[in-house]
Amino acid sequence: MIAFELTPEQIDLQNKMHTLAREKIQPYSLRVDGKQPGPMDEGILKIIGGENLNAFIIPRAFGGNPLDRVTLSLVTEEIGFGCAGVASIYAATVHAVSAILLGGSPEQKDTFLPLLLNPGGSVAGCAITEEKGGSDTTSFATTARLEGDYYIINGAKSPVINAGNAAFYIVFANSDTGRGRAGVNAFIVAGDTKGMTFGPFYDKPGLRSTPSAAIFFNEVAVHRSNLIGPPGSGYLLLMQTLDLGRAFFGAICVGLARAAIEEATCYAKQRIILERPIIKNQGISFILAELATELDAARLLVWRACRLMDLNTDYTRESSMAKLFASEVAFRAASEGMLIWGQKSCTGRSLMDKYQRDAQTLRIVEGTSQIQKMIIASQL
Ligand SMILES: Cc1cc2nc3c(=O)[nH]c(=O)nc-3n(C[C@H](O)[C@H](O)[C@H](O)COP(=O)(O)OP(=O)(O)OC[C@H]3O[C@@H](n4cnc5c(N)ncnc54)[C@H](O)[C@@H]3O)c2cc1C
Repeated sequence: MIAFELTPEQIDLQNKMHTLAREKIQPYSLRVDGKQPGPMDEGILKIIGGENLNAFIIPRAFGGNPLDRVTLSLVTEEIGFGCAGVASIYAATVHAVSAILLGGSPEQKDTFLPLLLNPGGSVAGCAITEEKGGSDTTSFATTARLEGDYYIINGAKSPVINAGNAAFYIVFANSDTGRGRAGVNAFIVAGDTKGMTFGPFYDKPGLRSTPSAAIFFNEVAVHRSNLIGPPGSGYLLLMQTLDLGRAFFGAICVGLARAAIEEATCYAKQRIILERPIIKNQGISFILAELATELDAARLLVWRACRLMDLNTDYTRESSMAKLFASEVAFRAASEGMLIWGQKSCTGRSLMDKYQRDAQTLRIVEGTSQIQKMIIASQL
């Protein structure tokens, strides 16, 4: 059976999150967007802690109040509507938690998941990308050698969302360079572990409210009990974690696209040129009609991927399709929005300009559009 209607509980939560996005997240994000990059703004931690957002992704046994993945996509869309950067901070935490839920031991879950329920707000991060490797996640220059009961990590990851702010990181490193993917391990590394330093925060065009920086590992000793799963299972865990995360970045893009389309439509109805609102011209209204259609299609792709996650069936292809299509729709919506807003979009740091910068960055984060196409093609 295919059902598209939401339950009354889902609609209530959606409305609550929409109010949060409009009243708290959007004003906050515009302020942070104009600032020099720096550590996590206290405001966002207060929102995460105050609204207990991390409880949505943590099982009840560890103190959470978990949502199914479809409902989590609704929450993520609303946060993305308010600010894609803030939603990316949340999605990075979802990622790190997913890795622990997928492969972690009961002790690891018990130790690390409750850290995210700190009432003052807490985040986690996933350290995968290396400067040289980029999209290639099959081998890592970051190493983790076993010495007694400790793995010693050396290397660098960049960029990492929430770097310098996270309660813990999921770090992927190579413990046996001769074995390629089979040598990759995943570790849970507490944020205050000795030997970890953080680079300057990236001064990026988009997602400026998402603190992102390099993490450097210099003889970082991590107890072997923090290894996720058996030795050599890191690559599989990485693929599974990315599969889970992509659809949620798709949900962020749906939120961003919706916000851009709403703003563009509102302006097109108000702006009078040649004695009529510009939306009366098909050159404008057809663009908005196409975008509204693409927006719904993107959301349905996100919902499908999330539903497959909830059913615990294969969702690799569907999750990539959701991220690919939604990020391209978000970019189109913001670009067309710039055109419809005309000179208003170029005045200072306008909201539409922020949407466009955020959307462009979202085409890269979590695997570029080309990489999503490679994943989809490999599944055909
Ligand atoms: C704001 C931001 C936050 C990020 N946060 C994190 C994080 O928290 N954790 C983390 O681990 N990583 C993070 N990343 C890294 C991100 O996942 C990578 O940037 C992304 O995977 C692409 O890697 P790259 O930028 O090195 O591009 P490259 O791999 O160098 O690719 C350059 C270009 O070539 C294309 N390309 C590469 N290979 C192929 C191919 N085979 N066929 C066709 N085209 C190809 C790419 O699509 C891209 O267009 C973040 C990135 C950004 C921008």
